[in-house]
Amino acid sequence: MTNRELILKLKDNGVLSLSEFETLISSYTKEDMDFAGKIAREICDSIYGKEIFLRGLIEISNYCKNDCYYCGIRRSNKCAQRYRLTEEDILECCKEGYALGYRTFVLQGGEDMYFTKERVCSVVSKIKELYPDCAITLSLGEKDFEEYKAYKEAGADRYLLRHETADKEHYAMLHPENLSALTRQKCLFDLKKLGFQTGAGMMVGAPFQTPLHLAKDMLFLSELRPQMVGIGPFIPHKDTPFKDKERGSLELTIFLLSLTRIMLPDVLLPATTALGTIHPKGREMGVLAGANVIMPNLSPMSVRKKYMLYDGKISVGDESAQSVNTVREKMSSIGYEVSLSRGDHKSI
Ligand code: SAH
Repeated sequence: MTNRELILKLKDNGVLSLSEFETLISSYTKEDMDFAGKIAREICDSIYGKEIFLRGLIEISNYCKNDCYYCGIRRSNKCAQRYRLTEEDILECCKEGYALGYRTFVLQGGEDMYFTKERVCSVVSKIKELYPDCAITLSLGEKDFEEYKAYKEAGADRYLLRHETADKEHYAMLHPENLSALTRQKCLFDLKKLGFQTGAGMMVGAPFQTPLHLAKDMLFLSELRPQMVGIGPFIPHKDTPFKDKERGSLELTIFLLSLTRIMLPDVLLPATTALGTIHPKGREMGVLAGANVIMPNLSPMSVRKKYMLYDGKISVGDESAQSVNTVREKMSSIGYEVSLSRGDHKSI
């Protein structure tokens, strides 16, 4: 089968075999990319129209007990200046975001032991009380079932936890021994069971990654059926063991966004900050290839530079209001409109 035929098969059947995905991912051409991008964009337009959903991202802490080899806020990075926001700080960000029109807040952070179940639930329920019309997304790493359940009961609606790579051996090359692909995946199934709109995803071009690994990622996504999928290029960070590794490919990231849209038609799919970091028009390209979410930064200006997962992160110097306007202009330049509404998954 030609690559075009494989792309059409993915559209018709909703999935491909492992070897078909591997073939497609290892041999796609610019033409295949454009072909998949056009189909993906048509699917997205037919479901979500010309709206791109904005989420206000609040980076609540860069303390982390984990030591992921790729990540700039890993525990062993002694150069990172650590910070954590207080509950008041977080509520202040929400206040500013609400006034700007945001109706989704994403609280993301390292696995910071200070943010106990009680503290997270407290801030979540306060946000819900003050802004009952807003969706709350958490992205705070791996927790046990009871803790996720408590978050849900406190009012959290969504949870982002990338699976990073579905292949066990590859996972072990990116993380220290105490972390495993299996635990990560169990968390994702727990989150789905609890009724969270759940986000998984992977880095493209992570060190040691092969097309077969990405094919496994696609099959994992097909099995999990997450409501959201975060896919961005790996970008090295100067103070990590992967500082000399190559960054992920722009083209492959965009192609995988398209394949993901075709496979999971109503998925909420961000054009990530990492994609915007490796190319000035990266997020526009992502949207044109099937993405429909952008997550501008709503963190206090004073901490922006400290939440550095990788080098060169964009928008660290922009005021929150300015970020919305920049994104709005970028989207309108390609014929899309931003929407600050909750933007729930179609199944909700
Ligand atoms: N502690 C949370 C949030 C992690 S940061 C959690 O465990 O989910 C969010 C995502 O940033 C990670 O899941 C990872 O895929 C991505 N990331 C981390 N370091 C990166 C790097 N160097 N390049 C690109 N993406 C990176």
